[in-house]
Amino acid sequence: MSEDLGITVKRDKDMSEWYQQVVLKAEFADYSSVKGSIVIRYWGQAIWEAIHDFWDPIMKSHGVKNHYFPLLIPEGLLKKEAKHFEGFTPEVAWVTMAGKNQLEERLAVRPTSETIMYEMFSKWIKSHRDLPFRANQWCNILRWETKMTKPFLRGREFLWHEAHTVHKDKKGADEETKWAIDGYARIAEELLAMPVIRGRKTDSDKFAGADYTYAIEALMPDGKALQMGTSHMLGQNFSKPYDVKFVGVDEKWHHAWQTSWGFSTRAIGGLILAHGDNKGAIIPPSVAPVQVVIVPIIFKKTDEDVLSKCKEVEIRLQNSGIRVELDDRDEYTAGWKFNHWEVRGVPLRLEIGPRDIKEKKAVLVRRDSGEKSEVSDMYVEQAVQEGLAEIQAELFSRGKKNLEENTVVTESLEDLKKAIKGKKWARVPHCGEEACENALAEKVEGGPRVIPFEQEAVHNNKCINCDKKAAYWVYWGRSY
Ligand SMILES: [Zn+2]
Repeated sequence: MSEDLGITVKRDKDMSEWYQQVVLKAEFADYSSVKGSIVIRYWGQAIWEAIHDFWDPIMKSHGVKNHYFPLLIPEGLLKKEAKHFEGFTPEVAWVTMAGKNQLEERLAVRPTSETIMYEMFSKWIKSHRDLPFRANQWCNILRWETKMTKPFLRGREFLWHEAHTVHKDKKGADEETKWAIDGYARIAEELLAMPVIRGRKTDSDKFAGADYTYAIEALMPDGKALQMGTSHMLGQNFSKPYDVKFVGVDEKWHHAWQTSWGFSTRAIGGLILAHGDNKGAIIPPSVAPVQVVIVPIIFKKTDEDVLSKCKEVEIRLQNSGIRVELDDRDEYTAGWKFNHWEVRGVPLRLEIGPRDIKEKKAVLVRRDSGEKSEVSDMYVEQAVQEGLAEIQAELFSRGKKNLEENTVVTESLEDLKKAIKGKKWARVPHCGEEACENALAEKVEGGPRVIPFEQEAVHNNKCINCDKKAAYWVYWGRSY
């Protein structure tokens, strides 16, 4: 096994270095010559496509229609909603030149597409019969990050989908905002095997121009939270400046109620961090580009028999709908191949050698536990399917355990400090005032992550940081 192929640093010793090695060596991504813009390689792209293939049909059956809007947004258009413009200004990249000529009006490279979409919505939507209206696009986004960038987790250019919906009343928009965040929780939990907390962002943290923002947050093994998807209730904040209105049943004009929601390639980084181990990535079977790899154990005399058996099993697994790859490269040893697929996190490995053929069996190895079992040739398909289901469930329950063991519930400031030092996050009561939130952030590392939908009574009734009455429980911690 060659040193530079495997991961050379322990995950809990230096998670940041471990993460970068996994991203590069497993070929999820590579660095480009533009800082903060990564190349998403086939292994990362396949996971993004699996997320797309899960979520796109769910959106469509909900009435969302796919579009594509332009990359460039004229400054005048971006400026129309003042808070939105102010919020995004520090991160916007501008096109100011065309060839040798200065442009009359500079053009923003989209940091998000509310403004360019809503100009069109105002043309297309005329009547209450046009509502609800739901448009989506899968596209790239550019936000000029000034913080340290990290592949997938924090970058300047990334991929996402952004859906934008229009409703005739507040109720419709409220329900839509909730529907979207529940959907994102399904992507995280069912597909990526990552348990999340659903809730609302505090006002200091909401989307620029929104009435409120819902988010899902996952807890990474280093105690930092990762925001994985957001859904914004925009109220009438955009429909007024962008003139998105409709004639109601009362035959009068009304400004519409709007939502927007997005999910990005950041989730791929979350998945790597959440499930990996010292050997590399572990990919949940639901999104694994290869679910099982067949490695022939070859000795000179019998290699023809072994290879034809492997080929047969490959076809049988394909016919059962399993994503399988036969690694029959003869320039590499079996041990080299084991390492190659372990770094990439392929959930199952099937080894077939001459003795296995004689005994009508194969050896199945789990990536998550390293556990080996002998499976009868007759039942290979069934054994692989069961193994995949078990790994999917095991990864989710490990995540759940990590979340439970590293969440401290406390009403004491000292315990909160201890929790953050101990690489955990905490659920604490807070008064909900921004000044107090800022004051707390001065005392304790991290910040408010999410106000969970599920709230219970606060025992002493007081904010963790001041004498005011607590308004809610909030998760407090460090974040990516
Ligand atoms: Zn307070």
